[in-house]
Amino acid sequence: MRVTKRVLAVAAIALGAAMLYLWGHFDGRNGTAPDLVQEAVAAETPAKPSPTKARERDVYYPNSEDLGRDEMRVIACGTGMPTTRAAQAAACFLVELGNGDKFIFDIGSGSAERLSSLQIPYDYLDKVFIGHLHGDHFGSLGELFIGGGIMGRHNPLRVWGPSGPTKELGTAYAIESMRRMYTWDLAGRAGMIDFRGFRIEINEFDYKGENAIIYEENGVTIRSFPAVHAIDGPVSFSLEWNDLKFVFSSDSYPNKWFIEYARDADLVVHECFIAVPSLVQKMKFTPESALTVGTQIHTAPEAFGKIMAEVKPRMAVAYHFFKDFDTTAEVHDRIRTVYDGPLSLAEDFMVWNVTKDDIRVRMAVVEEATWAPPPATETKNPNPDDRSTFSKNSGVPVEAIGYSDFIEGGVWDEVDEVLRGVYKEASEKLGQEFKYPKD
Ligand SMILES: [Zn+2]
Ligand SMILES: [Zn+2]
Repeated sequence: MRVTKRVLAVAAIALGAAMLYLWGHFDGRNGTAPDLVQEAVAAETPAKPSPTKARERDVYYPNSEDLGRDEMRVIACGTGMPTTRAAQAAACFLVELGNGDKFIFDIGSGSAERLSSLQIPYDYLDKVFIGHLHGDHFGSLGELFIGGGIMGRHNPLRVWGPSGPTKELGTAYAIESMRRMYTWDLAGRAGMIDFRGFRIEINEFDYKGENAIIYEENGVTIRSFPAVHAIDGPVSFSLEWNDLKFVFSSDSYPNKWFIEYARDADLVVHECFIAVPSLVQKMKFTPESALTVGTQIHTAPEAFGKIMAEVKPRMAVAYHFFKDFDTTAEVHDRIRTVYDGPLSLAEDFMVWNVTKDDIRVRMAVVEEATWAPPPATETKNPNPDDRSTFSKNSGVPVEAIGYSDFIEGGVWDEVDEVLRGVYKEASEKLGQEFKYPKD
């Protein structure tokens, strides 16, 4: 039996070689038969991996790869739903360009910690575009605002978002209210650290703009167009740079603007909601609300497929569903009933490297216990004036900054002895006099 198999194997190899020989001669393109055999052998036997040298891995380790000058890198920093879960933050996509610019599209609940895992200096994470004001699309803005300001952002945080049918339903109202919510937080930091990053620039634009330019700097053009979602106000975005186009739906029901303005883009990210049966089984929706939410407010997997079949991107990206072992196949199969093009079912830390020639999809492997990366600009000493100017700068009334006599009277002086030691240690080590505040 064994002999017979060996004979057959030898015969098969001989036949294969003969066919390669004939093909090489009759085809005329590929040189001689020995070349072909050598190429085939080379393809099947990769170079022996070195036991000591680094090898190519099919993952992305943040802060370990240069971004090509013509390259766009997109990282999913939130792909989930309004209900928070450790496995998936809510909507957030980071776009990094070879010219050095970086843009955040939506910053849903939990996504700021995903951004921190990428070890990017916070001055470079200063541009946020919000598609609509559901919490799962901007719930982490406050964390980026406060945490980024502490961790080295010295620029103002710049935020773009749509107007609404009334002033109170617009982005400016939401962000100003958020800043007001942080009145105590800001008053409690002013004058103690470099305070320059605790400023917000708000850029509210007309939600009815159709492919309207809302940002144009450094060769990058970002446009907005209306989305259909919940009530008036939501928008979708396109970003164009270097002949590459990224499109982000935020949330939307299928609409004519998306079909027109996302057409033929390179990377098209569109919401794709959990399938209706899962809404009933997993989220305990009634069939009536599952059908309404899953097909009328959001984009059902089948509708996502229909959109992509029309838009024909180089890569379609579906997000906004809990991507589990028992939901992924269902979403995928429903999309595939209508769309057979390139497809990524997004999860947090999925990475797309986009060039004119290629779109490479990988997962990032991240360090969870990250510290702040080195700041892009020098950190300055705190400015005591920030305490007194805080109320003027913020427009928020603050009666008094500092402690009342009552709280001051609770200070336990006996700790001075050990804390003086810390000041002394710093003075000696750094060769500079640091005076203990009470002396
Ligand atoms: Zn929404
Ligand atoms: Zn949403």
